[in-house]
Amino acid sequence: MHLYKSQPLKVYNSLKGKKEIFESISEGYVGMYVCGPTVYSNVHLGNCRTFMSFDMIFRYLKHLGYKVRYVRNITDAGHLENDADEGEDKIAKKARLERIEPMEVVQRYTVDFHTILQKFNFLPPSIEPTATGHIIEQIEIIKDIIEKGFAYEINGSVYFDVPKFNESHNYGKLSGRKLEDMISNTRELASQDEKKSPQDFALWKKAETQHIMRWPSPWGDGFPGWHLECTAMSTKYLGETFDIHGGGMDLKFPHHECEIAQAEASNGVSPVKYWMHANMLTMNGKKMAKSTGNNILPEEIFTGNNDILSKAFTPTVVRFFMMQAHYTSILDLSNDALLASEKGYSKLMDAIGAIDAINTSDSSSIDVVSWRQKCYDAMNDDFNSPTLIAHLFEAVKHINTLKEHKATITESDKNLLKATLNAFIFDVLGLENKNVSSADNDKLPDVVSLLIQLRKEARDNKDFATSDKIRDQLAALGIQLKDGKDGTTFSVS
Ligand code: AMP
Ligand code: ZN
Repeated sequence: MHLYKSQPLKVYNSLKGKKEIFESISEGYVGMYVCGPTVYSNVHLGNCRTFMSFDMIFRYLKHLGYKVRYVRNITDAGHLENDADEGEDKIAKKARLERIEPMEVVQRYTVDFHTILQKFNFLPPSIEPTATGHIIEQIEIIKDIIEKGFAYEINGSVYFDVPKFNESHNYGKLSGRKLEDMISNTRELASQDEKKSPQDFALWKKAETQHIMRWPSPWGDGFPGWHLECTAMSTKYLGETFDIHGGGMDLKFPHHECEIAQAEASNGVSPVKYWMHANMLTMNGKKMAKSTGNNILPEEIFTGNNDILSKAFTPTVVRFFMMQAHYTSILDLSNDALLASEKGYSKLMDAIGAIDAINTSDSSSIDVVSWRQKCYDAMNDDFNSPTLIAHLFEAVKHINTLKEHKATITESDKNLLKATLNAFIFDVLGLENKNVSSADNDKLPDVVSLLIQLRKEARDNKDFATSDKIRDQLAALGIQLKDGKDGTTFSVS
């Protein structure tokens, strides 16, 4: 029997503003769509947090036995500066500034995105479609929306008619906004603005002559509006109505609100059963964002090459840090928090490493079955990973008392304890066992000494590229070199 039948899951549905029992549309199958990155720059740690939250959700759904089709797109066209209908395309701008092709920008940052996610041990989504690969589908949806009377063409651009849509539908139902309030709070329509109403949004934008990312359409050369790609790709691969749509909280409005409007206008049905929004990663109490410069790149954390943290941290420690907060809570990045996560992670790995050597008895003084259920209860309560981690540390305590022969455990309970820990720590939370303190690493000092010697020789030969590479790559593995007057020493995190 599949686990999901015995482990009822509750999810917080942003559309309803409350937790609901999760019932997939088709029994045993889950369709999940998550808005992917706009690939015009390196992903910062904030972006990674949102994707990691959904990676954990994907992992738990799979663990429960669901067959999940997980679609996470790549935005490679149509996302304009300031997330609005005016301004330059983010990718085209980068291409112009660097004097390269837009698709070179897309390629570079898609590769970066994949490399970083792999370091964080993400599972790949089932489908990773691109906006530029779905221009035809987007044009078809626009034609459909125009035909149904919810969009209009003007000067080669097509806009979604929000007030018209709102007459028969509820624009604002996801974000809790009311169109009347939006209207009374907005500026007068700017004179150069061709939209009928400031709330209207672009489905298709006419490409001015200098705009390099352009496609032919029934309305002339242009490019799709940002919100449309997600409607096209989610409904193409998951159907007109699918189970879960996720993204960062900051996408709720206007992006997701507009997705709902587009899909309802075109298909006549609400596209998503459960809307899920992940909360923001902050640094110094402010949202981590590319635009403000308040951000840190994952690679800067793995190498220790930054002015914010005292040392390098491995991807799995950073992942553990993220998992210690609920995905709907704000999480603030700090050196102390990462140091604490590193300690906690080490304790967890030590306990995992100690289970096999524990002696078994005829009876258990530990109730492993109810402890296991508490782990499930935590995750079934809207993927409460911090509560799960608290239960994992309860198990660490048990393992330590067992090691000290102050408790007893049967063979079958020991196996259950080990299997449950492995399932939650590695399969669900996605952590990796990369502790470098275990006995099989007793050759580590000799190996690092050898690398220190090679680095010294490289420096003596003024080959700083090699010496820096040795230092940085060791740091990425959690091994820090420290140069002192008596030579170089190392420490392992
Ligand atoms: P973008 O590449 O700007 O389209 O953003 C990709 C994803 O990262 C979106 O789901 C955003 O909501 C998310 N995101 C951006 N900044 C943060 C942050 N500081 N914390 C968590 N998620 C973020
Ligand atoms: Zn989207």
